[in-house]
Amino acid sequence: MPETHCIATLGSHTALQILKGAKDEGFETMVLCTSGMAPIYRNFRVADEIIELGSLRDFFLHEDELVRKKAILIPHASLISYLDLGRIENLRVPYFGNKAMLRWEADRLLQRKLLQTAGLKLPLIFDSPDKIDRPVIVKFYGARGGKGYFVVKSEEEFREKMRSVGHGEQYIIQEYIVGVPLYAHYFYSRIRGELEIMGFDKRYESNVDSIGRIAAKDQMHLDLETSYNIVGNTPVVVRESLLPKIYEMGMAVLEATKEIGGMFGPFCLEMIITPQLDFYVFEISGRIVAGTNPYIAHSPYTYVRHGESMSTGRRIAREIKEAIAQGRLQDVLG
Ligand code: AMP
Repeated sequence: MPETHCIATLGSHTALQILKGAKDEGFETMVLCTSGMAPIYRNFRVADEIIELGSLRDFFLHEDELVRKKAILIPHASLISYLDLGRIENLRVPYFGNKAMLRWEADRLLQRKLLQTAGLKLPLIFDSPDKIDRPVIVKFYGARGGKGYFVVKSEEEFREKMRSVGHGEQYIIQEYIVGVPLYAHYFYSRIRGELEIMGFDKRYESNVDSIGRIAAKDQMHLDLETSYNIVGNTPVVVRESLLPKIYEMGMAVLEATKEIGGMFGPFCLEMIITPQLDFYVFEISGRIVAGTNPYIAHSPYTYVRHGESMSTGRRIAREIKEAIAQGRLQDVLG
C-alpha cells in the first residue's frame, strides 16, 4: 500500500540516498534545491517533486506546502548548516530525529561534554594558544567539511596562521592524534529498540590525502599548507574483532543522550585510531553523514543484518513506515 506521507529533504549532501530509500519504501518524495542542482535530481529520477529555490534559505517559504503534502523532513549536514537553527527548531513540518541534538552538534564544547559523559576517549583541548605544547589541529565551528583547518605546534605558528582568518570566527584547538581516521555509522531504531552498525568510511580530503604522493624533499621545497577540505568518502571495512568495541561506544553515546531526550535514527562517531588501538573520538554527528553515500545499495553490514538492499536513507524510511504502521509516528519525530 503506498504511504500517504511524503519524504522531503534539501537537495544536497545525502539527498539522492534519502530519496531513493524513501521511494524503495513506497513513499512519495520531494526535494527542495537550487536550480543548479535540479538537473541532477531530475536525471536520477528519485524525486516525485522538485521545488527550485533561489537560495537554500528560501526553504522556509515552502513550509505551508510541505505541511499540506504531509511531508516528513529528513535532516542532513547541509540542511543544518545552511538553515538557521532557531527556525529549524520551530518548523511546523514534521522532522525526523531529535531536534535537541542540533544545538549539541553545532557547539563543539557541548559535543565534547556529551562524548565525555559517554566515557569515550577524546583528544585534549587547549583553552588558550599559549598552552600549545604539541601538534594541534585548529578547527572552526559548524559542519563546513574541514575547510580552513590547520595544524601547528606552537603559539607563534598559531598566531601566524590566524592572521588570515576572519575576525570573530569561532574555533577550537585540539590535540592532533596520529593514527587512522574512521567514521562509524550507526542507526538506533526507537521502533525496534535496537542499535545497528550501518558501516564505516574514511574521508578523501584535499590536500592532506595527496601530500604523500610528493617526496618529502619536494614537500619542503613547495612550502605546502596541509588542508582538510572534503571532496568525497571512501568505504572502509574494519577488523571484525574491533566491532564489539565500536558497538559498545555507540551504546554508551545513546545512554549519554538520554538527558536530552535520547538520540535516534542515524548518527556517526568520528574517530582516530592509534597504533595502540586507542579510539579517540573527535566529533559526533546526530544525523545521516555523507560517508553513508558509498552504500546506497547496502554496506557489508546492512546486507548481513537485513539481507536486502538497505542504505541509511532507506533505513530511515523503513523506520518511519514501521512507526506509521504501529501508530507511533510521533516517536520518531523531533
Ligand atoms: P572534522 O571536521 O572534525 O570531521 O575533521 C576533519 C578532518 O580533520 C578529519 O577527517 C581528520 O582527518 C582530521 N582530524 C580532525 N580531528 C583530528 C585530530 N584530533 N587529530 C588528527 N586529525 C584530526
